[in-house]
Amino acid sequence: MSAIYLPAEIDLIAVTFFIFGLAFGSFLNVCIYRLPRGMSIIPGSACPHCGAGIKPYDNVPVFGWLMLRGRCRSCKGRISPRYMLVELLIAILFAVSYLSFGLSVEAIKFCVFSFLIVGLIFTDADLKLLPDTMTLPGFGLGLIFSVLTPVAGTAWLMRHGAESCFSWLPFDFRWRAASLLAALLGAAVGSLFIWGIGALYKLVRGVEGMGFGDVKLMLMVGAFLGVKLTVLTLMLGSMLGSLAGVGAMLTVWSKRLRRNLKSSAMHGSAGQRAWASAQLLLRRYEMPFGIFLGSMALFSAYFGDRIMNWYMGFYQ
Ligand SMILES: [Zn+2]
Repeated sequence: MSAIYLPAEIDLIAVTFFIFGLAFGSFLNVCIYRLPRGMSIIPGSACPHCGAGIKPYDNVPVFGWLMLRGRCRSCKGRISPRYMLVELLIAILFAVSYLSFGLSVEAIKFCVFSFLIVGLIFTDADLKLLPDTMTLPGFGLGLIFSVLTPVAGTAWLMRHGAESCFSWLPFDFRWRAASLLAALLGAAVGSLFIWGIGALYKLVRGVEGMGFGDVKLMLMVGAFLGVKLTVLTLMLGSMLGSLAGVGAMLTVWSKRLRRNLKSSAMHGSAGQRAWASAQLLLRRYEMPFGIFLGSMALFSAYFGDRIMNWYMGFYQ
């Protein structure tokens, strides 16, 4: 190895995935804004303030935003740095897909998955909405990919009966049938779990706790990831959700406590009153569960197997 040579290690295919990611991220920004509002995604990008069309040379991912310093060329209205963040995120995830799965259908599948999940995370953050126009086509795409590249758990199904069950099919179709089954099982586990939690919550609290958007989100996640990684997503998502809930409650509690202690008259009940406010918050708290589930689904897609192998290592 000599230092004179140019860095030959730069993976040109990874760079290509990254650049495609920037372009798709730019398109995703349009989808995030328009799909939940029921608008068409066909016409090009427009300023969210004045509606002026964005010129192609200003629409270059990341650089366009940097060059205009986050302002619209026509009306000078602020353009959120989130647009740049989404583009970079998709670019990185596309490159990671390639680096994880090589130049394969599986890499394309996880590019598509990342695109959909990031879109859903941001619409949920924006409008507390997981649009059907994203989750349902996502579910369909998950099923289509399942017959092109095996979903996690396909080999296990083949060893445990699917091989003989599908023996009437031509040889090359057997694993595809098993993979489709794995995708459907993942979708069933994910969506039924969330649906069950929602039903239980409604029974106990008498209010809607979880929307059907989350159910359909997990339908899609399950179809892409299969049973094992879907269960991991549910576990990590619930943990993250609980932590966020407790965190929000403690923040309110400590803020109220400090404020109540300052107003001298009510020293005696300051703690109780703060606790009551915190409990009230918990009752009203709307959990952005789509964000937790979505981010943990992405994490599981890329690191789930490694985490599980590491965890299983303790028992060997
Ligand atoms: Zn404008």
